Amino acid sequence: MSALNRRELIKAGASLALFTGFSPSPLWAAPLGANPFMLGVASGDPWPDGFVIWTRLAPRPLEEHAGMPAARVPVRWEVAEDMAFSKVVRQGEAMALPELAHSVHVEVAGLRPHRHYWYRFSVAGSDISPIGMTRTAPLATDLIDHMRIGVAGCQHYEMGFFDAWRHLAEEPDLDLIFHYGDYIYEGGATKMGPRPNSWTPVRQHVGDEIYSIDDYRRRYAQYKSDPHLMAAHAACAFAATFDDHEVDNNWASDFDQDGTDPKIFALRRFAALQAWYEHMPVRKAQFPKQGGLVAHRRLHFGQLLQMHLLDTRSYRADQPCGDDFYKNPCPPEAHMAPTVLGEAQEKWLDDGLGTGSAAWNLLAQQIIVMPVDFRKEDATEAQFATDLWDGYRPARKRLIETIRKHQLRNVIIATGDHHRHLVGTVPENDEILDGPMVAVEFQAASISSNGNGKGEAGLGHMMKNNPHFDLYTDRRGYQLFDITPKSWQADVKIMDQVEMPGGKISTMASFVVTPDAPVLHRN
Ligand code: FE
Ligand code: CA
Repeated sequence: MSALNRRELIKAGASLALFTGFSPSPLWAAPLGANPFMLGVASGDPWPDGFVIWTRLAPRPLEEHAGMPAARVPVRWEVAEDMAFSKVVRQGEAMALPELAHSVHVEVAGLRPHRHYWYRFSVAGSDISPIGMTRTAPLATDLIDHMRIGVAGCQHYEMGFFDAWRHLAEEPDLDLIFHYGDYIYEGGATKMGPRPNSWTPVRQHVGDEIYSIDDYRRRYAQYKSDPHLMAAHAACAFAATFDDHEVDNNWASDFDQDGTDPKIFALRRFAALQAWYEHMPVRKAQFPKQGGLVAHRRLHFGQLLQMHLLDTRSYRADQPCGDDFYKNPCPPEAHMAPTVLGEAQEKWLDDGLGTGSAAWNLLAQQIIVMPVDFRKEDATEAQFATDLWDGYRPARKRLIETIRKHQLRNVIIATGDHHRHLVGTVPENDEILDGPMVAVEFQAASISSNGNGKGEAGLGHMMKNNPHFDLYTDRRGYQLFDITPKSWQADVKIMDQVEMPGGKISTMASFVVTPDAPVLHRN
């Protein structure tokens, strides 16, 4: 670009700044010279009139700034009623900013309820993005007869291939995928080759453990370069949340797992959550602000489903007895950390549960709610994990009280984090595991974390010590919810293996719940 052109562009930028009150970075008008859509497209958080569409310009995803110039780049977007884009119903231009890693979030509005749309992006003089498909939510007053939600997360890049994402992308008639978090893992590249008593990476992270925002951006770029994950995003809308590994293993509000000064950890957390925002198809309400990012929110699917997306990391008290319950056994009476959600989110959840009128309530969250006795096979004493709701018994008691107070029998809990499928019920009383139940909990296994796993081998004692469990298996995969006004069916999908490309999916089990009682029926 000539000096004159650049000056003119900057002048144009300055007049725009006067107009909007912002002072933008320089505008880039030259061709990018390579396909900038290497990380695909995504959509998310559907409302009855629209959804978010997302992309990030990244012609060379692993290079500095993903190969982008340090300038604003205009991006055209289109939303059509058909895959061929013969009927474009909304279009516009968004700016990809260097401050936001050239990510683009467009909140598309003015669309019709409960119908499919197709979307794409383009950059002048460059390529057109892949096409994504998504669907608006039904009108608030509508009782639709069916919706289908996939639940997945925990996608450690080094521990397995992402074929499960491909299978989920190919599931017919998906309305939404709930991502429960661990979208990335923060650790550095693990050495290749067999390691005694541990795991062997099937592919490697680029770089060391991530701390700076550019580190986190590059890690997202590496994960998002995976074609199976890209296919899942292109196939349907996501409702994205985060768990611990988007920042650091087992972090809890101001505390990381290493005892770092909270003032220092806050800087890392802010960088990590900004990068999370940049890479997820979430709304402006989730834009990072000084002091944090508000991730908890509700999605409404007419009169069928009210979905409460929870943040179980940002506001919680530190885990009792530290994080590692195997190395540091914690007596049950110490499991009394006061809060998981924090006061404001707790009240927000109570309000939403109290005022909603949908047939179902889904608590879409991260860590296991029901008590889990992890004692080893020959142990006589119960053992509970401190990073789960088990470490926070007063908080769990209040959650159960909230459900009981509103006399809800239609609460389903979706959970991740634990890398195993676990299906069971949450007892009203922590001490009576086979007593009255308050909600059904479906914990979905990981996409790849923990590799091939061991199936049910050696887990029989877990079933015996936890009478409120209906299924527990160490297999990779995801879950599918088929929701109607009268029933909630959950399919437990498992991969045969994930340590080689081409793993196959199958249905291990299928459960049905009705909205009048938190009871599991095996299909
Ligand atoms: Fe995980
Ligand atoms: Ca986790």
